[in-house]
Formats: sequence, C-alpha cells, structure tokens
Amino acid sequence: MLNLKDPTLFVEKALIGGAWLSAGSGATVAVDNPASGDVIGQIPDCDATDTQAAIAAAAESLRTWRQTTPTERSRLLERWHALMLEHADDLAAIMTAEQGKPLAEARGEVLYGASFIKWFAEEARRTYGMTLPAPSADRRILLTKEPVGVAAIITPWNFPNAMITRKCGPALAAGCTVIIKPSEFTPYSALALGVLAQRAGIPAGVINIVTGLPKAIGATLMASPDVRKVSFTGSTGVGSMLMAQSAPTVKRLSLELGGNAPFIVFDDADLDVAVEAAIASKFRNGGQTCVCANRLLVQDGIYDAFAERLAARVNAMQIGPGTTTGTDIGPMINDAAVAKIRAHVADALALGAENITPRETLPEGSRYVAPMVLKGATTAMRLASEETFGPVAPLFRFHDEAEAIAIANATPFGLAAYFFTENLHRSWRVGEALEFGMVGLNTGSVSMEIAPFGGIKQSGLGREGGPTGIEEYLETKAFHMGGL
Ligand code: ADP
Repeated sequence: MLNLKDPTLFVEKALIGGAWLSAGSGATVAVDNPASGDVIGQIPDCDATDTQAAIAAAAESLRTWRQTTPTERSRLLERWHALMLEHADDLAAIMTAEQGKPLAEARGEVLYGASFIKWFAEEARRTYGMTLPAPSADRRILLTKEPVGVAAIITPWNFPNAMITRKCGPALAAGCTVIIKPSEFTPYSALALGVLAQRAGIPAGVINIVTGLPKAIGATLMASPDVRKVSFTGSTGVGSMLMAQSAPTVKRLSLELGGNAPFIVFDDADLDVAVEAAIASKFRNGGQTCVCANRLLVQDGIYDAFAERLAARVNAMQIGPGTTTGTDIGPMINDAAVAKIRAHVADALALGAENITPRETLPEGSRYVAPMVLKGATTAMRLASEETFGPVAPLFRFHDEAEAIAIANATPFGLAAYFFTENLHRSWRVGEALEFGMVGLNTGSVSMEIAPFGGIKQSGLGREGGPTGIEEYLETKAFHMGGL
C-alpha cells in the first residue's frame, strides 16, 4: 500500500537495545492514514516492562557512548544525516501517510529535520570547557562539559521527523543516550529514523524507540532515576504534568509547549510581504504548528485591504490528500482536532465573526477543514485565547501600537510572535515589547537549525537548536585541583 523505494524503512516494531521487538504483552495499537481513515499498520503497545528494558539498554550503552570522542560521534551523526537525505522521498511518503501533510511539505520537513543532525554533528566538537583564575597559587579550577545521561524524548505528531532530530541531534552529540517515545499517531517516521541510525553505525542501545499509548511509557520514564533528562514537545497540559512527575527524581527538563502567536500588521507594513508571511505562518501543516499565527491583529487603515488579499489567496488553496499534486491543505490529524477547530469557528461566528472565504464543498473524508479567513474577530472568542491548531485565520482589528502590544501580550503563552512594519523606530519598540521567545519582523518563519527555538511563560523551558541547543544535554563539572 505504501510504495517505498526501500520498503525496509517501514517497521512495525519497537527498537530496544538494538533489537526490533514486539511489546512483551503482544498488544498493538493501530495507526491510520488521516486522508482516508484506513489503517496503515499496527505498532507495539509498549508497557512499563518494555519501557524499563529500553531504559536499561540506554543506561548500559551510556557507559561506552559517553566515552567516545566528539569526532567519532560527529562522524556517526554525519552518516545518519547523509542517509536521511538519501532516503528523503521515502521518509516523506511515510510521513504523509501517517500525518496527512502535503508531500512537498513532508519532504521539506525531512530536510529541515536532517539539518539538526548536521548542525549538531558540527556542534559535537565545540563543547568547550573553561579554566578559571584560581584564588591561590596552589590551586587550579577547570570547567568541563559532560553528558547529562539517559534522555527521554517525547514528541508530537505535527512534525514527526524534525521534533525527534531536534532533540536526538544534540543529545547524541553531547554523549547522551536516548529513549524516544514518538506520538502514537505518527510512529513510523520515528521508526524509519531508527533504521537509518542503525545503518549509520550508531551503536545498539544509544537510540531506543518505544511505541504505543503514552500513559504507562510516560509514567515509567518519569519515575526512573536512570532517566536524567526529559525533552518534551507537546501540549502545555501534558508538559506541566511531566514537570510534576519529574520532581521526585529532579530531572533536567526541556519543554516546548503550546503557543498563541500574535501576527501584527501595522498600517505602514508592506502588504505583499505581510500576506505572504501570513500564508506561510498560518497555513503551513494545515495550521497545526505551535508557532502558527493564531491571532492576526491588523491595524484599522490596512484591515480591509489585508483581509481582501489574504482571502484571495485562501480561496485559491487546494484541499485534499497530501499525496495529490498541488495540495495546499491536507487532512487534520484526527477527528478530535477537527471537532476543536469546528467548535472555535462556530463560537466565533455566533459572536459576530464573518467567514469571508466560504467554500461549498470539501473532499470526501471526515478530517478535512476548509481554510478560512474570519473578519471581525474579538478577544471574547475562544480562538483568541486557545490554540485553534487549524487553517483558520481570525482577523482582529486594532487602532494603535500600544493596543496591539497589549492584546499580543495578553496570553499566558510566549512562544512566537510576528509583526510587520516598514518603520525602523517601531521595529525596535515593538520587537522589544513583545513577550515571546521568538519574534519575527517582516517574516513568518522563525524555525531553523541555526537559531534557538523555544518559548517563555507557559510555552516552556529551554531552547532547541542554535548555538546553545547542545547545552540542554550537558552538565558543567567544576574540577578543583588543590595543593599543587
Ligand atoms: P498534542 O496536542 O501535540 O497531541 P500531547 O501533549 O497530547 O500533544 O502529545 C505529545 C506527546 O506526548 C505524544 O507523544 C503523546 O503520546 C505524549 N503524551 C501524551 N500524554 C502523555 C502522558 N500522560 N505521559 C507521557 N507522554 C504523554
């Protein structure tokens, strides 16, 4: 059914200590194709015992992996990266089958995902230490970097490849070993990466992948004293629960949680630039990204022109299966996602919003949602305070800069924000006033391997990628030598 050049990339087993295994209990979970609802296959539903075996394998392999030289780890990561590029078409096909995004976007994500492995292959060799001026002549103080240890990596379905590589790249570069718990909706992308990691020569037990429903796996990972680090991308609710569960064993945490991104268009913006950025930021992955523009705040003077231009672009979008050439918007991940988007839209329409991009028909299948521009959005609507995670662009009207900043910051989240202006003074003022981990000026894109990705407030802890990304997986040891 899945037509792959290399069918061995499609695996339906968990990876524990270098062996591909079924769950000890024999239990499985079905994975479906969001475009058709058809079952693609069954993955092991790992339980606490399976997870414990993965932790033991990671702890065992840590003893030797942490002793390898950075150059050796770098070389293995480079090989893994090369294999990802070589198999990009198959990785994209697997992703579209289980996640739904258009094939071209899936391929884009594979390249984006691979870029983290390349970046951290390079960073592996730059985990510099330091010497400190000592307080007495017979003393020396050295700061050295050491891997944190076994890392649990829990990832979501919206970027089934890149959310794994963004965590595994720095973990392995630093000398950590990992247990990956991919989303139960998109496990096959993760398992294919596991196959390629083995082919690259990454030793058994360095990367373990446990599949299945999250509760038992999560609880076992969080309770284990051998797991020293947790890196999670997903909802704020689960992230905050993991934070609580990690308290008894005091784990290092990286949390990349929900956002509620404002996208501010000032009267003095370049309209073409703002519209293109809105399309890229709002509609990528059908609006299912945590940095997607969630609230489009548009100033009075440009409001109607912006709405009209955006609506024209949205009306021209093609909806359908990700495998159909030209598809802009694929199916949503599952029925719950569709229900939430519909509820947000119904609430907005009931409170006076207007859908200026009505569509008569949708493709067959339960998971399609029409891309939509809603005029007349207000802060009383659900979509102002909750992530819609769908292709819905609500346009809020504002009068002046202070009002826009106040609305933008009035959220417990602080992941990404975007604003559009041609005025230099305003660029600095607004850029500094926005309370977010990432701010885009005249661009709708802030995700790339060379820059830190992460949020403030309830959007999370820590930064991924960029020059500091590897630090999340390193400890600093202060080595004091006395009596010299
Ligand atoms: P999303 O809204 O992106 O689905 P979730 O937070 O539900 O976000 O899921 C993100 C990841 O967290 C997935 O791999 C999911 O299986 C996992 N997850 C969900 N619940 C738990 C839990 N109780 N413990 C550990 N992991 C969990």
